Amino acid sequence: MKILVINSGSSSIKYQLFDLARRVVLASGLVERIGESAGRVRHTVVATGAEQVLNRPIVDHRDGLRRMADLLLAANSGVIATPGEIAAIGHRVVHGGEQFSQPTVITEAVKATIRDLSPFAPLHNPANLQGIDVAEEIFPEATQVAVFDTAFHQTMPAMAYRYAVPNDLYAKHGIRVYGFHGTSHWYVSKRAAAYLDASAESLNLITAHLGNGASITAVQGGMSVDTSMGFSPLDGLIMGTRSGDLDPAVVFYLSERLGMSLADIDKLLNKQSGLLGLTGANDLRDIEARAQHGDNAAQLALEMYAYRIRKYIGAYMAALGRVDALVFTAGVGENSVTVRRMVCEPLSYLGIVLDEALNRAGGSGMVTAIHSAESRVQILIIPTNEELEIAEQTAALLTAGTVS
Ligand code: ADP
Repeated sequence: MKILVINSGSSSIKYQLFDLARRVVLASGLVERIGESAGRVRHTVVATGAEQVLNRPIVDHRDGLRRMADLLLAANSGVIATPGEIAAIGHRVVHGGEQFSQPTVITEAVKATIRDLSPFAPLHNPANLQGIDVAEEIFPEATQVAVFDTAFHQTMPAMAYRYAVPNDLYAKHGIRVYGFHGTSHWYVSKRAAAYLDASAESLNLITAHLGNGASITAVQGGMSVDTSMGFSPLDGLIMGTRSGDLDPAVVFYLSERLGMSLADIDKLLNKQSGLLGLTGANDLRDIEARAQHGDNAAQLALEMYAYRIRKYIGAYMAALGRVDALVFTAGVGENSVTVRRMVCEPLSYLGIVLDEALNRAGGSGMVTAIHSAESRVQILIIPTNEELEIAEQTAALLTAGTVS
């Protein structure tokens, strides 16, 4: 069964074509700088390793997805011969609100709800919808499925997802914690269960997704019970360019005393803060290198970054009561020996004991255990794969017969 996964963002489209029967990626690509004067399409046929790069303006999402379709259908690529070969398309959709807690076959009503949720994710949901509209035109025979970033967190109890603000703001306006990166947290939870040879239902996990965006989730019996991103992805951990946790009074102060507009404050906290605001760089590799060369700002940024993660681990140990495993995933979680050490070393009295030799050797694209024998909590590096998870959830909907 061939499943295409599309992640249609505001100015880019990422895609992967899976042959799920063989669990392989047939082709993948990235359409960048949509709507700008210089656009680019990069397409790779995985079996041959052949890469094609088109440097040309991409007018809009329709243009970008048509380029993708042409490349997938190219006579010499051997990927697909007709659009009808693609059984289903899994679309990443950022915000599903309280309406979607499961992957969902896309209908006109589903699209209308995704549109209604756009005020919650003004950059993402409209772009996701554009991807859906164009994919329906180009692949009319394929079942279109939406897989939501927020869905996994819909199991949180009210005591975790409610903010202590007047009830009407929740009841009438949906002001609450939604949480994001759900596809990744669920994927690594399942991988952890498989690795530990246990059922997801029997395990309590803390999953740390540390990429450019970062979030950490308490997973009890296969269900999210708390997560660090909130109403939007701005909350929680320190990220590449986002501040994470911040007293909202700072916003009032910036507005009243510094005369900043709401749009400027939004930009400041989402795009100019986090590691970038602290050091001038948002890539953790650069910051680690600078810290090694004695740069105090870089060293402090690393300490703040790890300390914030540690505080959440402590909080989620309290929320879960018993923790079987701590999982590190995404770019930083899978690759940074330093961050994993700085997070775990001070936690040994809580039963999280890292083995530094295993930590240094780990993270080669495989699931790796990096705790020492006396650790009560297993510490795992698990490479995430959100696209595969979206493909599998999409395929599961098809085979469950939910589709007529
Ligand atoms: P995204 O959220 O964009 O999908 P990724 O999960 O790919 O991000 O993570 C990107 C980040 O991972 C980079 O900004 C970089 O800071 C970090 N990273 C990648 N490789 C390493 C490494 N070897 N050491 C430290 N950090 C790394």
